[in-house]
Amino acid sequence: MNKPCAAAPRTSLNLARRGCAALVALAGAVLMSLPAAAAEPRWLDAEVRAADDGLVALRHELHQVPELGNQEVRTQARIIEILKAAGIEVATGFKDAPTAVVGVLNPQKGDAIALRADIDALPIKENTGLPYASKARGTHWGRQGVDVSHMCGHDAHMAMLLTAAQIMARHRDEIPRRVVFVFQPAEEGDSIENPFLVKNPRPSGARALVLDGLTKKYGIEHYFGIHVMARLKAGEMLVAEGPALNSADAFEIRIKGEQAHGAMPWTGVDATLAAAQTVVSLQQIVSRNINLAEGMGVITVGKLSAGETGNVMAGSASMVGTIRANHPDIRARLLARIPEVAQNTARAHGASAEVKLIEIYPVTVNDAALARRTVSALKDFGVNASISSWNPGASEDFSFFAREAPSVFMFLGVDAPGAVNAPNNHSDQFRIDDSALAAGVRAHIAAAMLPEQPGQDGKNQ
Ligand SMILES: [Zn+2]
Ligand SMILES: [Zn+2]
Repeated sequence: MNKPCAAAPRTSLNLARRGCAALVALAGAVLMSLPAAAAEPRWLDAEVRAADDGLVALRHELHQVPELGNQEVRTQARIIEILKAAGIEVATGFKDAPTAVVGVLNPQKGDAIALRADIDALPIKENTGLPYASKARGTHWGRQGVDVSHMCGHDAHMAMLLTAAQIMARHRDEIPRRVVFVFQPAEEGDSIENPFLVKNPRPSGARALVLDGLTKKYGIEHYFGIHVMARLKAGEMLVAEGPALNSADAFEIRIKGEQAHGAMPWTGVDATLAAAQTVVSLQQIVSRNINLAEGMGVITVGKLSAGETGNVMAGSASMVGTIRANHPDIRARLLARIPEVAQNTARAHGASAEVKLIEIYPVTVNDAALARRTVSALKDFGVNASISSWNPGASEDFSFFAREAPSVFMFLGVDAPGAVNAPNNHSDQFRIDDSALAAGVRAHIAAAMLPEQPGQDGKNQ
């Protein structure tokens, strides 16, 4: 019912909203059970405009000190400094997330929501040529002198959330609930320990915070996150009603046969043939075992190795691959079927297969009703937001938060006006148009001020 207001042109937004407020008042008892409309607070425009220079400067500052997953020491110190200066309670010392920072606004209030920003950078050499381009080096999985840069845009995530936190702290009495600012390390993975080389990789990033009990500790009822995205106009926001990003997992299969003379294959067990058959059989899992009406799945064997030379039948073979899905059931089915198919295919050849699954990130699934409420609130707060089924194909550990509570992960476009085929996130030329950042600040504040969920007979749309 607040759609005419939300759709009003930006210049007449406040007037239109006042008009709506009057209508709501006139409607009286019928509308008493409805939740309050998500009207933009009077101070928002002025605050966001006043913060803009500082917001851009903060992003450029953080851009020049990128740090790899679980090593974000300077970044952590800067986040703590800004939150404390704003009078926000700060906590650190989370298990397996030593560089995480959690800020809490209005700890005395209930109905808590979390706003999440990831804080780590990538082991990539930046080639944007920007005056504030990163020259930083770091250590990745023990390798020293690795180029490090914020080529996924987590510098923007931090700058937007810190700015939103500063603004909300100044208006804390008007923020209706407890707001938990989650500055999470290692979204791109742990840069200290290589999880592919250890038997039981330690939890990291969002998963570590979830295992440490973040949700319960702060009473978090919803998580919200924003990711900046190339190939989307600066300032435009898209929100999925369900799956927003895919799951990502890895597998390694080692096949053991029995080496023999290539001229006498009957005297051994051909691991190459068993491996080749396994590659084919793995593809049949997608075509025969998953409900394609439910979503999609991918199994790719990216590396296959076997044998020594032409006249020796291989006694062992190995392969590594990646698994993707956009539905939790499909992911579960793929993870269950891969060991079954690999082991039984090997057995059919008289060989054996050892399968190692490395579960990386689940599917990021938005709560549909909350996504709709969020888009409505974003529009009311002056953001060009819409519901979209766009899935950029990547994966995110926000998915661990989204499994804890109904949550929403939003995409914010950062392409400069006129940009065509802009370099994607993780490209060494990924660029953020700073005009996009203000929308992210507005979106965080809109999420923090989201009206209460409608009652049983109330409708918020
Ligand atoms: Zn990334
Ligand atoms: Zn990212």
